[in-house]
Amino acid sequence: MNEKIYEGKKPGWCPGCGDYAVLNALKKVFAKNKIPPSKIVIVSGIGCSGKLGDYVATNSIHTLHGRVLPVATAVKLSNPELIVIGASGDGDTYAIGLSHFIHSCRRNPEIIHIVMNNQVYGLTKGQFSPTSLKGFVSTSTPYGVFEEPVDGVLLALESGATFVARGFSGDVEGLVKIFERALNHKGFSFIDVLSPCVTFNRLNTYEWFKERIIKMEEPFGIRYLPRAIRFVREAWEEGRFLTGIIYEVKKPTLSDLILKDKVPLVKKSLEINKQEVLEMFSIFK
Ligand code: SF4
Ligand code: MG
Repeated sequence: MNEKIYEGKKPGWCPGCGDYAVLNALKKVFAKNKIPPSKIVIVSGIGCSGKLGDYVATNSIHTLHGRVLPVATAVKLSNPELIVIGASGDGDTYAIGLSHFIHSCRRNPEIIHIVMNNQVYGLTKGQFSPTSLKGFVSTSTPYGVFEEPVDGVLLALESGATFVARGFSGDVEGLVKIFERALNHKGFSFIDVLSPCVTFNRLNTYEWFKERIIKMEEPFGIRYLPRAIRFVREAWEEGRFLTGIIYEVKKPTLSDLILKDKVPLVKKSLEINKQEVLEMFSIFK
């Protein structure tokens, strides 16, 4: 398929924004895997990253700030035949949406969740975010950030995510490999993308990341969790970022555990099955 069929509105991001790389990599993966646009749902939150759903010609829901994951989970459970992709930012997922993130990691819904992590609030003009580095001077921290940053990758590993990866917007081919693998993963595929904000974050630039990124050599991820955590933590403590597919493991998905079948709700009969209702209420006896 030609990538052009996935083209939505003309992006309004600043020239050079890291989010373009995520958009381009997604379109490449959709085209390469010949996925009909009607089969894809992008659920986005609030922030510059949240505009991604408008820039692709697939189904999309632009939901409330921080609520990408509950909405995406509901879409996937209602229609397991759809490919559901969460498009979020560091503020959206690691601040207001943090509890949804942790519970999604442990529940394992079949969603690809992409966090465009620019370490700042871009849409609201440059306040510090949960991933801003200590000392970062922003419009809301003129004396520098006092707190330690959140590392979404470590958090995902500790919270039970079954696919954990980190990409970099300066490496579109690397993003394509990660997204393609995530597409084939059965469960919650979490990808933190280091995605520079060229307008409001003059510290964490493309050049700054290039000096600090360590690319994973193993192409298919580590299968032993303590090892994955140790590798990421060691890099993090040295001020470096491990990129690639860091961890992947097979576990039952949320749909496996709670759905009786994988038939979309729209294809089910509206008739009430008396036996099912009686069974449901029998637990209260
Ligand atoms: Fe990208 Fe930053 Fe511009 Fe937003 S403000 S579009 S994150 S460069
Ligand atoms: Mg941000």
